[in-house]
Amino acid sequence: MITVYIIETEDLTKVYGDITAVDGLNLRVKKGIVYGFLGPNGAGKTTTIMMLLGLVQPTKGRAFVNGINVQENPVEVKKISGLMPAEGGLYPNLSAIDNLLYFAKFYHIPRKEAEKKAKELLALVGLKDRANTKVGNFSTGMKQRLLLAQALINDPEVIFLDEPTSGLDPKGAVEMRNLIKALKNEGKTIFFSSHILPEVEEVSDEIGIISKGKLLISGSQKEIKKKFTKGMHIITVETREPVEITDLGFEVFEWRKIDENRIVVYAAEDIREELHGKLEGEGYTIIDIHLHEPSLEEVFMELVYGYGGERK
Ligand code: ATP
Repeated sequence: MITVYIIETEDLTKVYGDITAVDGLNLRVKKGIVYGFLGPNGAGKTTTIMMLLGLVQPTKGRAFVNGINVQENPVEVKKISGLMPAEGGLYPNLSAIDNLLYFAKFYHIPRKEAEKKAKELLALVGLKDRANTKVGNFSTGMKQRLLLAQALINDPEVIFLDEPTSGLDPKGAVEMRNLIKALKNEGKTIFFSSHILPEVEEVSDEIGIISKGKLLISGSQKEIKKKFTKGMHIITVETREPVEITDLGFEVFEWRKIDENRIVVYAAEDIREELHGKLEGEGYTIIDIHLHEPSLEEVFMELVYGYGGERK
């Protein structure tokens, strides 16, 4: 089977009692990209990652990593995957290098090779000088970087990062994002969950938005915005005078006032010229008229919470 997608799920579902944590997920992630899995708290991000790694059994559906059926061959999937968990995963009484060496045992990596790899990884994540420091004395940023090093010990093809910048200060978050980019440049596929929009926007080639266990939209940022606007042209107009007209005189999907001097128009075509002419004809002075591209934040807020702020 030729695999275009390194991660693929079919109707992947997890039910805990009366909570459907993941609800009929159909994910497709291309090889070698950074995929940002974006969702509010409790959306089902961690549960999805756990199912993709065979650490949680789905109630229904199937998951494939590099064409391997995760539920049938969890060991094979673990061999080619790395996980940076959202919490836990380190031994505070062990040094940084001993944490890595201990972890390497699970992959049966020979001691000499493991030592070499651990040193390389500590250098990669900027902890070379702290190799022998007990992890209990590490800052959150250092722990996160060590967790990333740990996720890379088996030289995985796919790396799952569960909220990798959680608890990091701005500098730490920048460093983590740079590491994600560096890993991508090495040809790795990175699947990372987050609820931090600018971060996902910056590093992701493709994004999936999940809420209440359901994938609401997925694709490149351009595709997502196109899907979101359904090919509509969103035009905002700012006038010097307060807008008082009630009829635009054009067939549009919708239009409304945003504030006293601004309207937004949803139209099938780019009708900026017509709008300009119409409003000037009505005696308005146009200060600004432009096609509006929704931000990821707007897409997220609308899809997840709806206009009124109510959670859908
Ligand atoms: P966060 O951003 O807060 O980490 P998340 O998107 O990772 O959230 P999950 O941790 O996957 O979301 O949780 C999804 C839903 O499933 C939540 O309602 C959570 O309470 C529930 N859930 C997760 N694990 C379990 C479990 N082991 N038993 C019962 N319910 C669970």
